Amino acid sequence: MLQLFYGGTFDPIHNGHLAIARAARNELQVPVRLMPAADPPHRAPPGASALQRAHLLDLAVEDEAGLCVDRRELSRAERKPDARSYTIETLRELRAEQGDAVPLALLMGADSLLGLPTWREWRSLFGLAHFVVADRPGSPLDDGLPAELAETLAARWTSSSEALGDAPSGLLYRLSHPLQSESATEIRRRIAAGEAWRHLVPGRVAQAIADERLYLERAATPGPL
Ligand code: ATP
Repeated sequence: MLQLFYGGTFDPIHNGHLAIARAARNELQVPVRLMPAADPPHRAPPGASALQRAHLLDLAVEDEAGLCVDRRELSRAERKPDARSYTIETLRELRAEQGDAVPLALLMGADSLLGLPTWREWRSLFGLAHFVVADRPGSPLDDGLPAELAETLAARWTSSSEALGDAPSGLLYRLSHPLQSESATEIRRRIAAGEAWRHLVPGRVAQAIADERLYLERAATPGPL
């Protein structure tokens, strides 16, 4: 069976993340593992710490059949506190665990797919996993893809969800799901600015953010020169 991983900073998890995870679960008929990224080494976390972000994820998936939290990137950071964490390593770790034949897939938003050429060893990722992509406002997939990305993706698109379970890696599948406008950056901005934000995250997540007084600090803005 296809194993589907949804990586992200989730700082914090919001309703857009959840809608996409549910859509992927329903459309592909497989569980979705939400995989929070570790904090970058030697730097204070920008919003909440990895442990706080993962806790918010636990609260968000508590009553969600087929969604769970996978802390492997946090565990790796504990083992190697000085190393930055890369998706290619996570996939290699998964392959070492599960073997070469198991179909693996990464779920991501269109903005992440457009940014793929900046990822470490990005072309090798297709030899390790499929990609499942959700459209996102402001990140058009149909035209204007950077040439090197368009070239690499061209022969990989499939509209068959079954095809993802029939091969271990290498395909690209686009979810059919309405656009979700939520963004973690916007939620952090709203919290710091005292604007309405609770409707953008699950209720239990909102309560925990408020209880732990997360994201109240305004992100530093450059002062006058
Ligand atoms: P930020 O607003 O700071 O960029 P984010 O909302 O994108 O944060 P991430 O944790 O970076 O949150 O996102 C994890 C993954 O979820 C990424 O692949 C991202 O593209 C995707 N994603 C997040 N929000 C949406 C959305 N509204 N629609 C589609 N994909 C999304």
